[in-house]
Amino acid sequence: MPEQTIEKREFKTEVNQLLDLVVHSLYSHKDIFLRELISNASDAIDRIRYQALLNSALLEENPVWQIAISIDQAASTLTISDNGIGMTHDELIHHLGTIAKSGTKEFLATLQQNQENINLIGQFGVGFYSSFMVADKVEVVSKPASGDAHRWVSDGKQGFEIGPAARAGRGTDIVLQLKEECKNYLEEHEIRSLVKKYSDFVEFPIVMEVEREELPRDKDGKPLENATPEKKRVTETLNSMKAIWTKSKKDVAADEYNEFYRHLTHEYADPLDVIHYHAEGTIEFKTLIYIPSQPPFDLMLHESQKGLQLYINRVFIMSDAKNLVPPYLRFLKGVVDTNDLPLNVSREILQQDAQLDKIRKNIVHKILAHLKEMMEKDYEKYLKFYQAFGTVLKEGLHYDYEQREAIAGLLLFESTKTKQGEYRSLGQYLADMPAGQKSIYYHTAEDRLTALGSPYLEAFRAKNWEVLLMLEAIDEIVLPDLYEFKQKPLKAVSKGELDFSEDGKQENEEKHKKDAETYKDLLSLIQAKLTDEVKEVRFSKRLTDSPACLVLDETGMSRHMQSLFKAMGKEMPPQKNILEMNPRHALIGHLDKLRQENPHSAVLDDYVALLYDQALLSAGFKVKDPASFSQRLTQLMLARQADSSAA
Ligand code: ADP
Ligand code: MG
Repeated sequence: MPEQTIEKREFKTEVNQLLDLVVHSLYSHKDIFLRELISNASDAIDRIRYQALLNSALLEENPVWQIAISIDQAASTLTISDNGIGMTHDELIHHLGTIAKSGTKEFLATLQQNQENINLIGQFGVGFYSSFMVADKVEVVSKPASGDAHRWVSDGKQGFEIGPAARAGRGTDIVLQLKEECKNYLEEHEIRSLVKKYSDFVEFPIVMEVEREELPRDKDGKPLENATPEKKRVTETLNSMKAIWTKSKKDVAADEYNEFYRHLTHEYADPLDVIHYHAEGTIEFKTLIYIPSQPPFDLMLHESQKGLQLYINRVFIMSDAKNLVPPYLRFLKGVVDTNDLPLNVSREILQQDAQLDKIRKNIVHKILAHLKEMMEKDYEKYLKFYQAFGTVLKEGLHYDYEQREAIAGLLLFESTKTKQGEYRSLGQYLADMPAGQKSIYYHTAEDRLTALGSPYLEAFRAKNWEVLLMLEAIDEIVLPDLYEFKQKPLKAVSKGELDFSEDGKQENEEKHKKDAETYKDLLSLIQAKLTDEVKEVRFSKRLTDSPACLVLDETGMSRHMQSLFKAMGKEMPPQKNILEMNPRHALIGHLDKLRQENPHSAVLDDYVALLYDQALLSAGFKVKDPASFSQRLTQLMLARQADSSAA
């Protein structure tokens, strides 16, 4: 009977390579050994549980599935036992002596090509062999459902020995003879916290026998207050097993959602909303996603780019799997659990994984649809969401071309027709747009007061056309990416030529031409005087009350934008803007009179300079020469003083 004797076997080359890597490179990640062993135990139970569906006799031996961890201080061993499927003699040799997983071989191959990748191994589930990070010797005693038990022993160096063993029932024990420097795994609290961290939601109970001091009890079971406490061994379940995301929505109470949220985030407040669904079809996964009620303090920092937790078949793989949601949804918290990825997936592999891509797209789609519904059905809640995360959401206009329109539909802005703190969506704007209006108009400014005081809005006010006020720094960066919404172009009121002919009033055009003719000479004189400052002087269609304003051309950068660039250390080349004048303003007639008297008069020079400076100021720019500006203004006040004294 050769099976009864102890055989010595060598590891296959790739096992040696992997062991070498594991032991030498993964040292700082050695905690994961427990996760790997628990995950194997859980898989083994999954498999026998499945077989038991067909053969209920298998249930008789142990109706309670469980994973047991035990600590033997004296022997310095940590044992992980399960009552799962077990392994036969040949299975022990095959599963633990070769690398069956194709993924691991590929992984090894990439590591060999590129030694710098060695750090990646830390994010890689190396499975059973991770036990050798913490143990000098690993003993596996396993008994399959039918067949005898065997013992597999290895020091993780040359090879292993396999021989007969005794085990009470079906299942597997992994006995780790801990290395001297890994004795911390003999501490109950250490194990407890590792289980909590990595395996809390494993479906089967993970139990451990622990020592507790308890007061002895009287015959009624009441503790005896003055007695000396007794040491007792009790079995405790270490994991909560509450994988509530795998349940269906109707089976989860609001309280449970909130409790899990707190477990997940360590936040005190309840979440604002929960999105819980199971995706089926080309990609299958279960997800439970929360929208927090408050933004985290580091939301706007680039490093704070969070993600969701990734589970593969209930086994925790990583927190903050950044690829699960795009950065503009980084405020989401939650869990994604899928069977469609290999357990030994690494962050780097995740980055190019096509399955994960599908998961992400599905989540993005779902979240945006959910937000849309919230906006329509529970506006108050939506407003809370928007005030917390709207700014981040806007980044999506820039980064997610596909979802641009869906994101735009979720944005809210104050407008010339709202009160402060009231908002309009682009959809509402379109719905109320007068027939003749063809574009969506917006104005970016630092705050509402500045925006409303701006000369750019005059013509819109006269026409009673709504202008959206974009008061956030990011607006000006991302809005141009939107370009249009529902086929209507978005236009900044301060940029380019405005075409008001769209409302069909021919007479306006006529007037415009006539003005241009009347003041032709004044215009060219001003142009000549400001030649270093502006690239064009023209008559305006946007002004009704102000004499002049500064207009950027379509690609021009506002003061706001320029200062953003400056803050990033990028000095922009000086840009020349367009000065637009209002021919119907009394001042223009006055200037033209001065020109007719003497085109070279100092007064005219001063007036033109002042006109330009105040146009700069109301566009939010600085005047170039503040000293001259004040001097001219003082002169003007003195002149006026002289006038009124004379009168
Ligand atoms: P993986 O779990 O990704 O397959 P591992 O290295 O963790 O890779 O385990 C290798 C194999 O060993 C498993 O596929 C399984 O067949 C077997 N195995 C490991 N642990 C157990 C266990 N506790 N019970 C039964 N089989 C096990
Ligand atoms: Mg495994």
